[in-house]
Amino acid sequence: MNPFQYEQAQELNSGAERVLRTPEATFLAGGTNLLDLMKLGVEKPAVLVDVRKLPLAQVEELPDGGLRLGALARNSDVAFHPLVKERYPLLSQALLAGASAQLRNMATVGGNVMQRTRCSYFRDTSTRCNKREPGTGCSALEGINRGHAVLGVSEACIATHPSDMAVALAALGATVRVKGEKGERSIPFTDFHLLPGTTPQRETVLEHGELILSVDVPALPAAKQSLYIKVRDRASYAFALASVAAALEVKNGRIEQARLALGGVGTKPWRVPAAEAKLVGQAPSPEVFQAAAAAAVEGAQPREHNGFKVELARRLVVRALTVLGGRS
Ligand SMILES: Cc1cc2nc3c(=O)[nH]c(=O)nc-3n(C[C@H](O)[C@H](O)[C@H](O)COP(=O)(O)OP(=O)(O)OC[C@H]3O[C@@H](n4cnc5c(N)ncnc54)[C@H](O)[C@@H]3O)c2cc1C
Ligand code: SF4
Repeated sequence: MNPFQYEQAQELNSGAERVLRTPEATFLAGGTNLLDLMKLGVEKPAVLVDVRKLPLAQVEELPDGGLRLGALARNSDVAFHPLVKERYPLLSQALLAGASAQLRNMATVGGNVMQRTRCSYFRDTSTRCNKREPGTGCSALEGINRGHAVLGVSEACIATHPSDMAVALAALGATVRVKGEKGERSIPFTDFHLLPGTTPQRETVLEHGELILSVDVPALPAAKQSLYIKVRDRASYAFALASVAAALEVKNGRIEQARLALGGVGTKPWRVPAAEAKLVGQAPSPEVFQAAAAAAVEGAQPREHNGFKVELARRLVVRALTVLGGRS
């Protein structure tokens, strides 16, 4: 590991300013992703500004009935929070489907949505990777790409976004609240992560030195009937090959509200409004669910080893909608 300086931020302003003033500085939260990448030589920050002492660990109710998840709230605390379990079961399920109990006890909300891809070429500094070293090429395009994305890909990068929680947050229409040099701003979750395009090294709209304060989840009655399903190579402790976050509200025999997002198949958490549009106003039926599932994977661009993900994601959507439709 490269040598680095360690500092603890005691106040919001001091922490963010220290990172702002130092191009090679970065925030440290739970450390479960950042330290891992530092040990591999993928990330080489000269200064780590530990933000864990900042008062950002609360889960609070918002006036509209939504929830404010503090950036430092631990993944396990969010997953088991009574209001999260009651109002947003898909979020609790997504968190519990991620990593291990020990990791969830360290990992934070901010760190989770900022975690970097698990592409093995990105993590192996002896290989070519446009995300790690812009302009060197992408080893995954013609390499082992079984775990890679089929949606939102570019000729520069086909890495998946690895977070389960982020898929649920995309479906819920969350907002990321951040603080930077110019003050605070709120970013819709679906705009927060960037497609790789020609600049895969730039993964979010965050500017250097901007600190995530919270992720705010709006009131969404439909989310009481919601589900997160994840398919992976092992029964636990593995990243998604494909996953779906779904919420469905059926009233008087018609679907009134629908939310759908996919994980494990997209270069970012993949909300699918076109699939939601196929559901709203319809009576729940296998044909309607099939149409939504087809819309969810429309435009997929599989490579040599990951074509199975298109069909897997399609079937997962049908399964989730069938379960939720059967409950209403
Ligand atoms: C073996 C293993 C298996 C895993 N399996 C899964 C899985 O199945 N599903 C899943 O979703 N995740 C999985 N994870 C990933 C884990 O969820 C993430 O490592 C964790 O959520 C990151 O949170 P952290 O607080 O530790 O972040 P850190 O490692 O501290 O930080 C990660 C990044 O976020 C930045 N950051 C942190 N907080 C802020 C903030 N407030 N504002 C701005 N930037 C910030 C840091 O600068 C850094 O760049 C796994 C991890 C491991 C090691
Ligand atoms: S898919 Fe992206 S992260 Fe993986 S090797 Fe290619 S450029 Fe790097």
